[in-house]
Amino acid sequence: MAQWHERASALKIDGRAFIGGHRVWANSGQQFENVSPVDGRKLGMMARCDGADVDAAVAAARAAFEDRRWARKAPAARKRVLIRFAELMLKHSDELALLETLDMGKPIKYSQNVDVALAANCIRWYGEAIDKIYDQIAPTGEDSLALVTREPVGVVGAIVPWNYPMLMAAWKIGPALAAGNSLVLKPSEKSPLTALRMAEIAIEAGLPPGVFNVVPGFGHEAGAALASHMDVDCIGFTGSTRTGRAILRMAAESNMKRAWTELGGKSANIVCADCPDLDAAVSAAIGSIYFNQGESCNAPSRLFVEASIKDAFIEKALAMIPRYAPGDPLDEDTIMGAIVDDAQMKTVMGYIEAGKAGGAKLLAGGEAVRLDSGGYYVAPTLFDQVDNSMRIAQEEIFGPVLSVLTFTDVNEAVRQANATPYGLAAAVWTSDISKAIKVSRALRAGTVHVNQYDNDDITVPFGGVKQSGNGRDKSLHAFDKYTELKTTWIQIA
Ligand code: NAD
Repeated sequence: MAQWHERASALKIDGRAFIGGHRVWANSGQQFENVSPVDGRKLGMMARCDGADVDAAVAAARAAFEDRRWARKAPAARKRVLIRFAELMLKHSDELALLETLDMGKPIKYSQNVDVALAANCIRWYGEAIDKIYDQIAPTGEDSLALVTREPVGVVGAIVPWNYPMLMAAWKIGPALAAGNSLVLKPSEKSPLTALRMAEIAIEAGLPPGVFNVVPGFGHEAGAALASHMDVDCIGFTGSTRTGRAILRMAAESNMKRAWTELGGKSANIVCADCPDLDAAVSAAIGSIYFNQGESCNAPSRLFVEASIKDAFIEKALAMIPRYAPGDPLDEDTIMGAIVDDAQMKTVMGYIEAGKAGGAKLLAGGEAVRLDSGGYYVAPTLFDQVDNSMRIAQEEIFGPVLSVLTFTDVNEAVRQANATPYGLAAAVWTSDISKAIKVSRALRAGTVHVNQYDNDDITVPFGGVKQSGNGRDKSLHAFDKYTELKTTWIQIA
């Protein structure tokens, strides 16, 4: 632990934007303060980018796209740069992990082993994929040939949230850059540090200046300027459903740029009495809701348990919960860290109060803890006797709060599982293969897990239905977001 604290004290924070290959302050000179949720320490001042800085970043990205140094590079050459980028991220793993933990409060162990590792793997995977994809010849007949090719869309704007800052950025950066686009990334104002370091590392790996730009700042300033920019061809957004709606509007009302949204969730985890392994189900339910302090879009925040196993389930869950007591995020043994900031902690505490007032039964947690740390921590919280109409069952809390609902008829559980505006992820636990298939078909979600939760692999798509978004990150399908199909007809004489 001491070594991470010492490194944290020695860390030099550079809060300048990254535009055209250079670190620059905002044109206006405006800055904002970056405070760590770990202990309330001031990490440094950040460039508060606005429309003028976004204009400069988009101009740099456009110039880099037009000069074709990146877009026209052979895919194998782009591959080499992206693989080097991933290797350098791993070389700087300690620094990136420390920045991520200080910026948004997650345990250092996970920043290293999950966030840096998965983000680097994502960049590498898209690098490795790009020279294995072939264009097509359409079967149009003897006299002509129609080539169907994929072209980069041009300048991509990416706006990302604070819960997995590096990984959500990597899910955009990997496919967008591999496909030959230029990029302007707007990280969350709550967690801008790792995105800025990633841009520097990309240059070190050989990415031409201007291809990857980062504009730290607020959503209504830098974010809105990017989403409504007339020279941005595509916007890839990850964040809340409320902001996603605004992004779609801005895209439509500006130049009708392609707009992809990856939004919030209120995922249902349905555990039937014939679940094959109750311990595994409890462990997955508890581990997945409290991982990342509950700040995961796909967190299984509604647990539907069949009545006959409810008591046994709750008893096992309550025995497990103390392991998730929040600790110092810089301690390598900590598995639950700090909530991202004071505002988010207040939001979470507000939902806990709403749960109590609404008649749910608080069985664990329900309070802010580690108050003398100077940071923001909430105890892992469990509510029983939750009704699906309550606010804690309908709205995304984005904190360590699990709501338990009881069912006797699995069809009714599915109906309630689907009865929210969201459709990101879901799970069903049963030994009956037919029931598993019927339930997973009936669940309206982009991802359904059977007898597990939160399995993750870069090869599979991730995204939502309904108000959880309209796109898919990860996998080869992500190239659909950042490429256009072109048809070229050739007459054969
Ligand atoms: P948010 O919507 O508040 O902010 C996301 C980003 O949008 C930030 O960079 C923010 O500055 C920017 N932004 C805010 N207002 C804007 C505006 N008017 N115009 C342009 N940009 C604007 O979300 P958040 O609190 O940072 O993140 C949490 C949300 O993200 C949760 O709802 C979570 O479920 C969702 N999320 C979804 C996925 C997914 O893949 N579906 C993954 C991670 C997080």
